[in-house]
Amino acid sequence: MECSHNNISNKKVKKEIFDMTFEAKTSVCNDCGAHLRDNEYEKKYMQWLEGIYKERRDKFQTQCHFSKNLVKCAEAYLEDYPGISPTVFFRALVTIYFNVVDGDGKKSSQLESILDAEIYDSFIQDKDRKKVTIQFKPKMMIELLAIGEFLGESTSTIVEEVVVKFMTMITSHDERLRSFWENEIRDYLDMFLKGA
Ligand SMILES: [Zn+2]
Repeated sequence: MECSHNNISNKKVKKEIFDMTFEAKTSVCNDCGAHLRDNEYEKKYMQWLEGIYKERRDKFQTQCHFSKNLVKCAEAYLEDYPGISPTVFFRALVTIYFNVVDGDGKKSSQLESILDAEIYDSFIQDKDRKKVTIQFKPKMMIELLAIGEFLGESTSTIVEEVVVKFMTMITSHDERLRSFWENEIRDYLDMFLKGA
Protein backbone atom coordinates (compact mmCIF):
# COMPACT_ATOMS: atom_id res chain seq x y z
CA MET A 1 0.00 0.00 0.00
CA GLU A 2 1.20 3.48 -0.79
CA CYS A 3 2.15 5.66 2.18
CA SER A 4 -0.22 8.58 2.73
CA HIS A 5 2.43 10.57 4.68
CA ASN A 6 0.25 11.22 7.74
CA ASN A 7 3.04 11.15 10.28
CA ILE A 8 5.15 14.22 9.52
CA SER A 9 7.97 16.03 11.32
CA ASN A 10 10.11 18.99 10.39
CA LYS A 11 13.67 17.77 9.87
CA LYS A 12 16.91 18.96 8.40
CA VAL A 13 17.62 17.20 5.10
CA LYS A 14 20.69 17.13 2.87
CA LYS A 15 20.91 17.25 -0.89
CA GLU A 16 24.09 16.59 -2.83
CA ILE A 17 24.65 18.53 -6.03
CA PHE A 18 27.81 19.70 -7.87
CA ASP A 19 29.89 17.88 -5.20
CA MET A 20 28.39 20.23 -2.62
CA THR A 21 25.76 19.78 0.04
CA PHE A 22 22.63 21.83 0.49
CA GLU A 23 21.00 21.57 3.93
CA ALA A 24 17.57 22.87 4.99
CA LYS A 25 14.61 21.91 7.09
CA THR A 26 11.51 20.49 5.47
CA SER A 27 8.64 18.08 6.22
CA VAL A 28 9.76 14.47 6.37
CA CYS A 29 7.42 11.48 6.63
CA ASN A 30 8.33 9.39 9.69
CA ASP A 31 6.81 6.26 8.15
CA CYS A 32 8.44 6.10 4.73
CA GLY A 33 11.18 8.75 4.98
CA ALA A 34 9.93 10.80 2.01
CA HIS A 35 11.09 14.43 1.87
CA LEU A 36 7.99 16.53 1.26
CA ARG A 37 9.68 19.64 0.00
CA ASP A 38 7.52 22.71 0.45
CA ASN A 39 7.70 26.10 -1.28
CA GLU A 40 9.89 27.52 1.44
CA TYR A 41 12.41 24.72 0.99
CA GLU A 42 12.40 25.17 -2.82
CA LYS A 43 12.89 28.91 -2.38
CA LYS A 44 15.90 28.39 -0.10
CA TYR A 45 17.30 25.84 -2.52
CA MET A 46 17.02 28.27 -5.47
CA GLN A 47 18.65 31.02 -3.39
CA TRP A 48 21.50 28.67 -2.49
CA LEU A 49 21.91 27.76 -6.16
CA GLU A 50 21.94 31.44 -7.19
CA GLY A 51 24.75 31.99 -4.68
CA ILE A 52 26.78 29.11 -6.14
CA TYR A 53 26.00 30.41 -9.63
CA LYS A 54 27.67 33.73 -8.72
CA GLU A 55 30.81 32.12 -7.26
CA ARG A 56 31.20 28.97 -9.31
CA ARG A 57 30.15 29.60 -12.90
CA ASP A 58 32.07 26.51 -13.95
CA LYS A 59 29.47 24.31 -12.20
CA PHE A 60 26.82 25.59 -14.60
CA GLN A 61 28.78 24.95 -17.76
CA THR A 62 28.88 22.00 -20.11
CA GLN A 63 31.93 21.22 -22.22
CA CYS A 64 30.63 20.04 -25.56
CA HIS A 65 32.39 18.88 -28.71
CA PHE A 66 30.70 19.77 -31.95
CA SER A 67 31.53 19.09 -35.56
CA LYS A 68 33.42 22.13 -36.89
CA ASN A 69 31.06 22.02 -39.82
CA LEU A 70 28.10 22.37 -37.45
CA VAL A 71 29.70 25.39 -35.76
CA LYS A 72 30.23 26.97 -39.20
CA CYS A 73 26.56 26.42 -40.05
CA ALA A 74 25.57 28.05 -36.76
CA GLU A 75 27.79 31.06 -37.49
CA ALA A 76 26.25 31.40 -40.94
CA TYR A 77 22.76 31.24 -39.45
CA LEU A 78 23.69 33.90 -36.89
CA GLU A 79 24.61 36.43 -39.57
CA ASP A 80 20.99 37.54 -39.23
CA TYR A 81 21.44 38.00 -35.47
CA PRO A 82 24.35 40.41 -34.95
CA GLY A 83 26.07 40.18 -31.58
CA ILE A 84 24.85 36.66 -30.77
CA SER A 85 27.64 34.12 -30.31
CA PRO A 86 27.25 30.40 -31.13
CA THR A 87 27.41 29.53 -27.41
CA VAL A 88 24.46 31.82 -26.58
CA PHE A 89 22.64 30.41 -29.60
CA PHE A 90 23.25 26.81 -28.48
CA ARG A 91 22.04 27.64 -24.98
CA ALA A 92 18.86 29.08 -26.53
CA LEU A 93 18.31 25.91 -28.56
CA VAL A 94 18.64 23.67 -25.49
CA THR A 95 16.33 25.84 -23.39
CA ILE A 96 13.72 25.93 -26.17
CA TYR A 97 13.98 22.20 -26.74
CA PHE A 98 13.21 21.35 -23.11
CA ASN A 99 10.53 24.01 -22.70
CA VAL A 100 8.73 23.65 -26.03
CA VAL A 101 9.45 20.29 -27.66
CA ASP A 102 10.42 17.72 -25.04
CA GLY A 103 7.42 18.14 -22.74
CA ASP A 104 4.99 17.99 -25.67
CA GLY A 105 4.63 14.37 -26.78
CA LYS A 106 3.05 15.29 -30.11
CA LYS A 107 5.78 17.74 -31.07
CA SER A 108 8.68 15.58 -29.97
CA SER A 109 7.43 12.49 -31.82
CA GLN A 110 6.72 14.61 -34.89
CA LEU A 111 10.28 15.92 -34.78
CA GLU A 112 11.75 12.42 -34.35
CA SER A 113 9.77 11.11 -37.30
CA ILE A 114 10.83 13.83 -39.74
CA LEU A 115 14.43 14.37 -38.59
CA ASP A 116 16.87 14.06 -41.48
CA ALA A 117 18.98 11.08 -40.34
CA GLU A 118 21.63 11.62 -42.99
CA ILE A 119 22.49 15.13 -41.85
CA TYR A 120 22.10 14.23 -38.17
CA ASP A 121 24.55 11.33 -38.49
CA SER A 122 27.01 13.39 -40.48
CA PHE A 123 27.18 15.95 -37.64
CA ILE A 124 27.39 13.25 -34.95
CA GLN A 125 30.04 11.17 -36.70
CA ASP A 126 32.27 14.01 -37.92
CA LYS A 127 35.68 13.52 -36.27
CA ASP A 128 36.79 17.10 -36.91
CA ARG A 129 35.43 18.67 -33.75
CA LYS A 130 35.62 21.86 -31.76
CA LYS A 131 35.24 22.26 -28.01
CA VAL A 132 32.43 24.63 -27.04
CA THR A 133 31.63 25.66 -23.46
CA ILE A 134 27.97 26.47 -22.84
CA GLN A 135 26.83 28.37 -19.76
CA PHE A 136 23.37 27.67 -18.31
CA LYS A 137 21.16 29.44 -15.78
CA PRO A 138 20.66 27.54 -12.47
CA LYS A 139 17.12 26.34 -13.29
CA MET A 140 18.08 24.91 -16.67
CA MET A 141 21.25 23.32 -15.24
CA ILE A 142 19.42 21.41 -12.50
CA GLU A 143 16.89 20.29 -15.08
CA LEU A 144 19.73 19.04 -17.30
CA LEU A 145 21.32 17.22 -14.34
CA ALA A 146 17.99 15.55 -13.52
CA ILE A 147 17.47 14.49 -17.15
CA GLY A 148 21.05 13.21 -17.28
CA GLU A 149 20.56 11.18 -14.13
CA PHE A 150 17.32 9.75 -15.48
CA LEU A 151 18.83 8.77 -18.84
CA GLY A 152 22.20 7.75 -17.42
CA GLU A 153 24.00 10.21 -19.67
CA SER A 154 26.25 13.20 -19.08
CA THR A 155 24.81 16.68 -19.42
CA SER A 156 27.20 17.39 -22.30
CA THR A 157 25.90 14.39 -24.26
CA ILE A 158 22.33 15.59 -23.79
CA VAL A 159 23.22 19.14 -24.84
CA GLU A 160 25.16 17.89 -27.87
CA GLU A 161 22.23 15.75 -29.04
CA VAL A 162 19.73 18.59 -28.76
CA VAL A 163 21.97 21.06 -30.58
CA VAL A 164 22.64 18.55 -33.37
CA LYS A 165 18.90 17.91 -33.75
CA PHE A 166 18.18 21.61 -34.13
CA MET A 167 21.14 22.24 -36.43
CA THR A 168 19.88 19.36 -38.58
CA MET A 169 16.56 21.18 -38.82
CA ILE A 170 18.24 24.44 -39.74
CA THR A 171 20.50 22.99 -42.42
CA SER A 172 18.08 20.50 -44.00
CA HIS A 173 16.18 21.35 -47.17
CA ASP A 174 13.41 18.96 -46.18
CA GLU A 175 10.14 20.86 -46.33
CA ARG A 176 8.53 19.23 -43.31
CA LEU A 177 11.59 20.04 -41.19
CA ARG A 178 11.69 23.60 -42.49
CA SER A 179 8.07 24.17 -41.65
CA PHE A 180 8.48 22.58 -38.19
CA TRP A 181 11.30 25.05 -37.58
CA GLU A 182 9.32 28.03 -38.91
CA ASN A 183 6.07 27.16 -37.11
CA GLU A 184 7.21 25.67 -33.81
CA ILE A 185 10.66 27.04 -33.00
CA ARG A 186 11.47 30.26 -34.84
CA ASP A 187 9.34 32.64 -32.73
CA TYR A 188 10.70 31.25 -29.46
CA LEU A 189 14.24 31.60 -30.72
CA ASP A 190 13.72 35.21 -31.80
CA MET A 191 12.19 35.98 -28.40
CA PHE A 192 15.04 34.29 -26.55
CA LEU A 193 17.79 35.94 -28.57
CA LYS A 194 16.26 39.39 -28.19
CA GLY A 195 16.45 38.92 -24.42
CA ALA A 196 19.99 37.48 -24.48
ZN1 LIG B 1 5.18 8.49 3.94
